[in-house]
Amino acid sequence: MIIDIHDVWHAASVKHEQYVRAKMEAAWKKLYRVGPPTPLLAQVYAFIRKHEIEIVCASTRSYIASARDYDSQFPPGSVERTTAELILNKVFNYDMFRDARIGWRAYELCASSPYRVCPYCHLVPTDTKKKDADNKGYRPQLDHFITKADYPFLALSLGNLVPSCGDCNGPAMKHEVRVLTNAHLFPLADTAVLTFKLRPREGKPWSPLLKALRLPLDEYEILIDTPSGNVAAQNSLQTFQLTDRYQNYLHEAYRVAKMDKNPAWLRTIATKLGFHLSLEDQLGFPIEDKGMRFKNIPQGKMRLDVYVDSRKW
Ligand SMILES: [Zn+2]
Repeated sequence: MIIDIHDVWHAASVKHEQYVRAKMEAAWKKLYRVGPPTPLLAQVYAFIRKHEIEIVCASTRSYIASARDYDSQFPPGSVERTTAELILNKVFNYDMFRDARIGWRAYELCASSPYRVCPYCHLVPTDTKKKDADNKGYRPQLDHFITKADYPFLALSLGNLVPSCGDCNGPAMKHEVRVLTNAHLFPLADTAVLTFKLRPREGKPWSPLLKALRLPLDEYEILIDTPSGNVAAQNSLQTFQLTDRYQNYLHEAYRVAKMDKNPAWLRTIATKLGFHLSLEDQLGFPIEDKGMRFKNIPQGKMRLDVYVDSRKW
C-alpha cells in the first residue's frame, strides 16, 4: 500500500452497520423458519453472536479473535467448515450487496468514500460515478483484505473492505493472498511507510552530472524503500509489483526532481510558455499539504517523496 485511508468509510458507518444488522436478522429468521436448528446451525449462530460487535462495528480494524475462533471451531478442510461456509454465505451475502440496484449497496458505499485513487498502488483512479441517463456509471472494486473465501462472516465487515483497482485486486496481485499468515500493509489501519526515490540506474554510483539531472531519463530508476525488518511492507511491495509498475512513471519522478535540481530548466519552460508555473502547479498539490491533497492525485505520494528527497542530494 502507498497511502493510508483510515477514515475512508467514516460517512458510511451508520448506514452500513444498520444494513448488515438488518440482513443478518432477516437471514437468521429464514434459516430458523424450518423447525429446530441442526446442531451445526446453532453452533454457527452462537459463533456469530459471540463475535457480533467485532464483525458488525465499522471501527473494527482487526479480526484476529474471530478468525482464530472460527478456525478452531470449524477447522479448515472439515465437513463442518464447508457447511458453516454455506450458512455464512447466506447470512453475509456479498453478492446481494454488490449487485443490488436500490437501497444501500456497493455503489452507495463506494460513492461515500472521499478517496479517489487506489491505496495499494496509488496509480489508478478509484472514483465512483453513479448510473444516469447517459452513462452506465462505474465504481472501484472492493477488496476483502481478509479473503471472504476463507472467512465468509467478514464479507460485509466495513473494516475489511478496501476500495481498490482491478489490477491490485486481481489474480496477478492480491486477490486471495492470506494476510493473516502472510502480513501485508493494511490501508485502513497501518502507516504508509513505503517511500520513493529517484536513483541512478542499477545501483550505479552518483556522478555530478547524474546529480544535476543533466543525463537522459534512462540513466535513472525509481527506488521504493521499505523500513528494514518491516515484513508487511516488503510483502506489499512484492505482491503489488510496485517497483516494476512505477518505472512507467519515471518521467514524472525525473520531472519533479528537476524542478529543484535544475531551476534553469523551469525558467526555460516559463519563458517558452510565457507565464510562471508555481511549485503547486507543478506538483498538483501544495508542498505543505495539510489537506493531504496528494492522496487524491495518482502518483501523488511518489511526486511528494521524490521532490523532498531530491532537495537533499
Ligand atoms: Zn491499485
